[in-house]
Amino acid sequence: MGIKVIYEKCNLCKKCIEKCPFVSIEIKDNKIFINEKCTLCGLCVKICPEKALLKEEKEKEKIDLSQFKGIWFFAEAKDGGISSVSYEMLSAAKKLKEKLNEEICGVCFGKNIKDKVINLIRKGADKVYLIDDDVFCEFKEEVYADALSYLIKKYKPNIVIAAATMIGRSFIPAVSVKVKTGLTADCTDVDIDEKTGLLIQTRPTFGGNLMAKIICEKHRPQMATIRPKIFEQAKDQENTKGEIIEEKVEFKIEDRLNICGKQRIENVVDLQEAEIIVSGGRGLKEGKNFDIIKELADLLNAAVGASRAAVDSGWIGYPHQVGQTGKTVKPKIYIACGISGAIQHLAGMQTSDYIIAINKDPDAPIFKVANLGVVGDLFEVLPILIKKIKEGGK
Ligand SMILES: Cc1cc2nc3c(=O)[nH]c(=O)nc-3n(C[C@H](O)[C@H](O)[C@H](O)COP(=O)(O)OP(=O)(O)OC[C@H]3O[C@@H](n4cnc5c(N)ncnc54)[C@H](O)[C@@H]3O)c2cc1C
Repeated sequence: MGIKVIYEKCNLCKKCIEKCPFVSIEIKDNKIFINEKCTLCGLCVKICPEKALLKEEKEKEKIDLSQFKGIWFFAEAKDGGISSVSYEMLSAAKKLKEKLNEEICGVCFGKNIKDKVINLIRKGADKVYLIDDDVFCEFKEEVYADALSYLIKKYKPNIVIAAATMIGRSFIPAVSVKVKTGLTADCTDVDIDEKTGLLIQTRPTFGGNLMAKIICEKHRPQMATIRPKIFEQAKDQENTKGEIIEEKVEFKIEDRLNICGKQRIENVVDLQEAEIIVSGGRGLKEGKNFDIIKELADLLNAAVGASRAAVDSGWIGYPHQVGQTGKTVKPKIYIACGISGAIQHLAGMQTSDYIIAINKDPDAPIFKVANLGVVGDLFEVLPILIKKIKEGGK
């Protein structure tokens, strides 16, 4: 693939040289020459008045799509077990199976987790591919990507879904590149088109103002990551008879090295897994006031969330953002402090089991979804709450 010069047509007008943003066109031996800086942007082809430049396309590889079968979901092993989000992915796979009728296969990587993986079978997986190896004690993106792409190339699934958690978001894109297919990241729904059998992947676009439905027609597998807390966790089923298939992958010696500074999986904090979330908004007035939110969160063993206003102000990082363009959460208790309750924030937290709102404006929309509302100044209310908890335990 490259830019071809048709010398018979070229009159050396040099327009391509002037316009090339990458300085990749020069004249050598009185002829146009494309050097190694060319990025194939195609601008020269468009502007050449003599049509003397052509972009050569590589002949597209024809893929026999009929050989790809099965609905796969990635099951994350965490803290010696299977993370709850994996059962949500199993639910999503079950929804797809209702229309596609292909077998559901889980894929799980971990150490000494075979007895936990059986739960995936109990809840409806037809098969689980398990790689039990020390190398998975810590999360290394490239190791996970190598292992999953090895299995995909070997078994050729039709669909692969994974949770859009910190783990899924970081290694699944690398897998899609390795197996040469597309990926729709951060979906809010997946379904099957009953006419074509294709996976319909729904996700917000244009800053959350539109919901796009995306399909992957020509490549396999069809891959998507799905936001946690969209699907309920799969429940135990009767008469399940799935099988666990143990696989082995040859890892490079450097993959086995325990590199200092790499995060161990147990230490990955996940807002979407938290049972209690204390969130702060613009009502905090400035970034350092998140300390009071963090103090309350520590006392309650809770995670810290935030509104987009707080994140956009640079008071806290984007991974903490709850809402339409942040994370969808469903904790047992959600405490919103100084958050007005804009529709986009509610979209990410209103299905929480119990919502407590602290806001000095009695008309703030957050009170419409709150189970318990405290009308007051958070700088007065939170210190009292923290003191009470410290006095009386959790
Ligand atoms: C396409 C799009 C996507 C978006 N996605 C998201 C998203 O994912 N998440 C999100 O959160 N927002 C999102 N937004 C932004 C959203 O519309 C709101 O602007 C944002 O949620 C407001 O944040 P806030 O409630 O912290 O701030 P504000 O709306 O300014 O509310 C601050 C609140 O604090 C209260 N307050 C002030 N001082 C105190 C005090 N001392 N004590 C107690 N209460 C006090 C005020 O009464 C007020 O209700 C999105 C917007 C768009 C257009």
